[in-house]
Amino acid sequence: MDDGDHWEARARELAGRFAMRAARHDREGSFPFENFAELHEAGFLGLCVPARFGGAEATLTTFLRTQEALAAGDGSTALALNMHQLRFGPERESPTYPEHWFAELCRGAVEHGWLANTAATEEGLGSPAGGGTPATRATRTAEGWELDGRKTFTTMAPLLKYFIVMAQIPADDGGPPRLANFVVYRDDPGVAIEETWDSLGMRATGSHDLVLEAACIPADRFLNERRAGGPDARGAAGLAWFALGVAATTIGVATAARDYAVAFARERTPNDARTIREYPGVRTRIARIDLLLQRSRALVYDAARAWETQDPRGMPPLNRAAVAKVETLNACIEAVDLAMRVVGGVSLQRQRPIERYYRDVRAALHNPPLEDRALEMLARAALDEPVEPPRGVE
Ligand SMILES: Cc1cc2nc3c(=O)[nH]c(=O)nc-3n(C[C@H](O)[C@H](O)[C@H](O)COP(=O)(O)OP(=O)(O)OC[C@H]3O[C@@H](n4cnc5c(N)ncnc54)[C@H](O)[C@@H]3O)c2cc1C
Repeated sequence: MDDGDHWEARARELAGRFAMRAARHDREGSFPFENFAELHEAGFLGLCVPARFGGAEATLTTFLRTQEALAAGDGSTALALNMHQLRFGPERESPTYPEHWFAELCRGAVEHGWLANTAATEEGLGSPAGGGTPATRATRTAEGWELDGRKTFTTMAPLLKYFIVMAQIPADDGGPPRLANFVVYRDDPGVAIEETWDSLGMRATGSHDLVLEAACIPADRFLNERRAGGPDARGAAGLAWFALGVAATTIGVATAARDYAVAFARERTPNDARTIREYPGVRTRIARIDLLLQRSRALVYDAARAWETQDPRGMPPLNRAAVAKVETLNACIEAVDLAMRVVGGVSLQRQRPIERYYRDVRAALHNPPLEDRALEMLARAALDEPVEPPRGVE
């Protein structure tokens, strides 16, 4: 068994346990702390960490296989874990953090199960990939930095150790403010979590607000900086891993809906004594779901292979990743809609997991790259010369 098979098998085992807790966390909007304890115990928090820091240094493909398997058990846990893994895979390929900080994040993940994620999005800013300037400001003080602002969508806020906060800093030359990333801890003075996350889907991701009011941090918490709207210092790695990570997670959610619909169609026998799998409409829908899922997997793993080998033939690897993300999201939403139709009216009942899949499958539409930006990227590649480098994705 190669490493990928091993990690995928472990992810499937965990997914079975996560599935049993998923309904409760979804209903309560509570954070699945116990799932993350089990992920740590099984070594998943170090999956993408380089071997030199004790991690498994899994390939992009292996990471995607585990995301798909975990998401079939609980989409929220998998999407949240995705955000943690993205701190390591792209950074490993294209370093932008000071080496001692990367070492700290890696060892924290492997040895203690400490989670890391970015806090970039703000209500007024929208998606940071849009190139806007955050309202959150960092001001130099005698001891280091003072941060003021509010971040939305801070996934895993109940458990995060390392909040990687994007803030504007004044430019040394008096020009437009620059964007910088800082490490913030939950117990730094002036830091608070407001439990605002009450969403339609991915309800157990704990994506609350991070509030920074005169938050004081030492000078050495500075990670990196760039021009607002400027190219991502990691090159395309951040966007490629992000796009494919959320796509694989979404396939996992849609696969769970597919399996539920298939099992239901085999069993459900209304009063006329025919099992619904005999009806042509049901059969066509099941076949179409499999077609959509197979197409999605083919696109995602083709893009991953192209990225890993930097395949010079055909569409460039990053563009393939963008295509795979957009196509997967749309295909998986359609697949879950079809699964709902197979199951019929009872698919709307809150006690059935398919109702949760219907809500969860939509969430990654709003993760990078957003569809319009992905299409614009493809159009630029076809129509413009020279092609712009990808913007920062936090
Ligand atoms: C479940 C979940 C977890 C998340 N976790 C995190 C996290 O941990 N950390 C974090 O920082 N963020 C996180 N996010 C936030 C996410 O990355 C986006 O920033 C967020 O969803 C805001 O997107 P928006 O669609 O509101 O953005 P907006 O930029 O306001 O866009 C709104 C709409 O306008 C369109 N649009 C905007 N600008 C352009 C443009 N220039 N060209 C074309 N179309 C445009 C968009 O396509 C979209 O349809 C999370 C989001 C979700 C759903």
